[in-house]
Amino acid sequence: MSIATSVQDGNGGSSTTTNNLALIASHSHISGLGLDDHLQPKESSQGMVGQLKARRGLGVILKMIQQGKIAGRAILIAGPPSTGKTALAMGLSQNLGNDVPFTAITASEIYSKELSKTESLTQSFRKSIGIRIKEETEVIEGEVVEIQIDRSLTGGHKQGKITIRTTDMETIYELGNKMIDELSKEKIIAGDVISIDKANGKITKLGRSYTRARDYDAMGSNTKFVSCPEGELQVRKEVLHTVSLHEIDVINSRQQGFLALFSGDTGEIRSEVRDQINLKVAEWKEEGKAEIIPGVLFIDEVHMLDIECFSFINRLLEDEFSPIVIMATNRGISKTRGTNYKSPHGLPLDLLDRSIIIQTENYNEEEIKKILNIRCNEEEVEINSDALNLLTKIGVETSLRYASNLISVSYLISKKRRSEIIEIEDIKRSYLLFLDSSRSVAFLQENESNYIDDDGKVVFGKNT
Ligand code: ATP
Repeated sequence: MSIATSVQDGNGGSSTTTNNLALIASHSHISGLGLDDHLQPKESSQGMVGQLKARRGLGVILKMIQQGKIAGRAILIAGPPSTGKTALAMGLSQNLGNDVPFTAITASEIYSKELSKTESLTQSFRKSIGIRIKEETEVIEGEVVEIQIDRSLTGGHKQGKITIRTTDMETIYELGNKMIDELSKEKIIAGDVISIDKANGKITKLGRSYTRARDYDAMGSNTKFVSCPEGELQVRKEVLHTVSLHEIDVINSRQQGFLALFSGDTGEIRSEVRDQINLKVAEWKEEGKAEIIPGVLFIDEVHMLDIECFSFINRLLEDEFSPIVIMATNRGISKTRGTNYKSPHGLPLDLLDRSIIIQTENYNEEEIKKILNIRCNEEEVEINSDALNLLTKIGVETSLRYASNLISVSYLISKKRRSEIIEIEDIKRSYLLFLDSSRSVAFLQENESNYIDDDGKVVFGKNT
């Protein structure tokens, strides 16, 4: 079976999928974990505030991922709601850069109608494994000694022969029947120094004076000299393509073909296809043609997965090609879905046992204020200090997320009264207009009788 790969830029940009737009919007102020050169967290940096212990822990994980030291490990970020678990994962992904694949999903995405749970998980795992494929293109460089054009050819391309003297001054290299049109485009004449890429025939004029060996070093670290037998090649360049294992699966899956990469409609991929791809990739690795980059799969709200998914994840983590799996949950002791037993964070004990747990803690007032201030800047909204103080107080008493949501509402209210700055009154009005969860619960308890209960009954006037 031939394994096709899609050609991308060397940065492997498209391997990185953060496909939840809502997540990105609420975390758009995060540009990294905010660590210094020694991977120690700064109090406030790259949009990240506080949560020092968790950030220190993730700094160590970041280093290990970058050194390619860990794969097939599970990390659980656990903590109360709105304590930055998702923000931390986003920060880590920013620090990893485009070279390391990062896939973010929320656990409920697994329950799609088109794919089975196991297929959906497998695809997410394989999207998080990058394969950096090395290709060597052969380039001849040297001074053009002679150009002969066959003038008998009229229509179409003129053909001929170029004789170049390669850079070691001794070797003469002839390229018969080279398309001379290429040469006239570049206005190349005898005496010029050129390079010819054998893979695509592209001719580039390098200059007129003789290029010395040290000039080649300046061309980049992936240019290297090889020994140059007579009439042979002079310089080889390494070209890197990074694709995800999932992309290789899709391209080689008969039913789907590469167009499915654009539609996302990949359907189920047969396990035989994956087995063969694994073999091929392992072969490339052995031959030094490919490098495997274990990336990161982030599963938010992981307690939404059920026992079947958890045991499948256990199996996938043992796979030869496994990414680092980072999970986040805000659950305490709760039921594992699909079972009748309770466990810490709703995760089965065997998966918990193999996970490194990073704990997040509630923010203090000062930290909440800093985060809200950053959010105001991010939303390009001006707020005066009294209003920010009140918003912070609301954040402390309700939740950071609720207070954060009031920013845009308060801004609209301030605009209505033709002000560009949020003042204390705007915050008060939005607080009264929109309930936070505890006021909503209190309201429901008071007015329980007016709502439909689980049995579909409404008992009007129960409270009266
Ligand atoms: P949940 O358990 O409810 O899913 P969470 O722990 O994942 O919550 P986030 O969604 O990460 O919480 O945080 C809520 C909001 O606060 C987001 O906009 C996030 O970017 C911001 N935020 C949280 N922690 C920090 C932090 N340490 N620095 C900067 N912003 C933060």
